Amino acid sequence: MALIVQKFGGTSVGDADRIRAVADHIARTRRQGDDVVAVVSAMGKSTDELLRLADAVSSDPPPREMDMLLTSGERISMSLLCMALADLGIKAASFTGSQAGIITDTDHTRAKILEIRPDRLAAAIADGVVPVVAGFQGVSTEKDITTLGRGGSDVTAVALGAALDAAVCEIYTDVTGVFSADPRVVPDARRLTRVSFDEMLEMAATGGRVLMLRSVEFARNHHVPLHVRSSFTWEPGTWVVEEDQSMEQAIVSAVTHDATEAKVTVAGVPDRPGIAAHLFRALADRSINVDMIVQNTSANGTTDISFTVPRVDLDDAVAAAESLSGEMGFAGVSSDSSIARVSLVGAGMKSYPGVTATMFETLAELGINIEMISTSSIRISCVVDESVVEEALRALHAAFGLGG
Ligand code: ADP
Ligand code: ASP
Ligand code: MG
Repeated sequence: MALIVQKFGGTSVGDADRIRAVADHIARTRRQGDDVVAVVSAMGKSTDELLRLADAVSSDPPPREMDMLLTSGERISMSLLCMALADLGIKAASFTGSQAGIITDTDHTRAKILEIRPDRLAAAIADGVVPVVAGFQGVSTEKDITTLGRGGSDVTAVALGAALDAAVCEIYTDVTGVFSADPRVVPDARRLTRVSFDEMLEMAATGGRVLMLRSVEFARNHHVPLHVRSSFTWEPGTWVVEEDQSMEQAIVSAVTHDATEAKVTVAGVPDRPGIAAHLFRALADRSINVDMIVQNTSANGTTDISFTVPRVDLDDAVAAAESLSGEMGFAGVSSDSSIARVSLVGAGMKSYPGVTATMFETLAELGINIEMISTSSIRISCVVDESVVEEALRALHAAFGLGG
């Protein structure tokens, strides 16, 4: 008998039939003798609808109220799932993030989990009750309701898995696992049977949104095995696990794409120590996550610095750079919000030359201009124009022989 955390994403609980199917699956798992903690997302696209509503009533919704609004979506699915479980004779009880003991910092709309106090959930499990927890939410140290950022139910599931020492955290979604590319864009993408935490981290960080990045970090740090699988077919999916050194590593495991970032260029930056530090401190002070950074070689004592930020933070990032312009002597600040990033990820590439050359040649053959490049030991990313990113993705997937 094991404890299994089962997380169900928005599509998996998208309507009444889906919720009954999920209840059925939990009931089957219980009857096999395992304990279950369920974590649910809001139904279908309801979080997007709530965001639209907020936008319609306010040009600048207070983050505290935004969180109160957004957490209502998960309350609907958790209570409906408990009703469906009761119908099947399964004892279940719903818990908000706060009731589940998920304590976060006070950074509304992107709060981080500080601590989990799982006593109530543990007591419920001991009583033979299936706790159904609202994903994506917690309560702050100031006792306000918070959310964990888009896709945050994955974090809830993994954090509870770690706190309750679960045998596995199963992430049920609308695809049958983690694929060699987004299967909605690359039709012949292949499902990966296993993927290492390191590769999954790089994938999640560069657009493979099947798992939220922070959930993968959390799972790796707390040794929670993840199993990504389908709530439509229930077949075994992809295991995200500790890297197995004895296994032959694929040179390239997956290609990812991401069109959620924008590029900012600061021109005429004086080439002196401390200037970049000032610029990036100003961005950090506004909680803006800077991703890729490129600095040109200097000419006549000045240089250009380009960097990417989430599109939602673009206006803020430009304002931060412009606020320093006079004092630092920048020549100008410009931005481009129609960029996208395409990346290759593979644990084997660190010991295999030529991957970068093949990537650049593939893009060159399509006449695609590379605007920025960044690498880690197991990833290469290129920034290209958003309009060509899907074409680039399919070509790279084929060039590295990843198709099924
Ligand atoms: P959920 O609502 O269940 O959390 P998400 O929409 O967050 O689901 O994540 C699942 C989606 O991730 C899939 O529908 C798929 O389009 C997308 N996706 C992107 N890259 C990948 C990939 N490499 N493998 C699988 N799915 C991917
Ligand atoms: N409902 C939230 C969202 O749409 C959280 C999640 O689904 O994981 O982002
Ligand atoms: Mg998700």
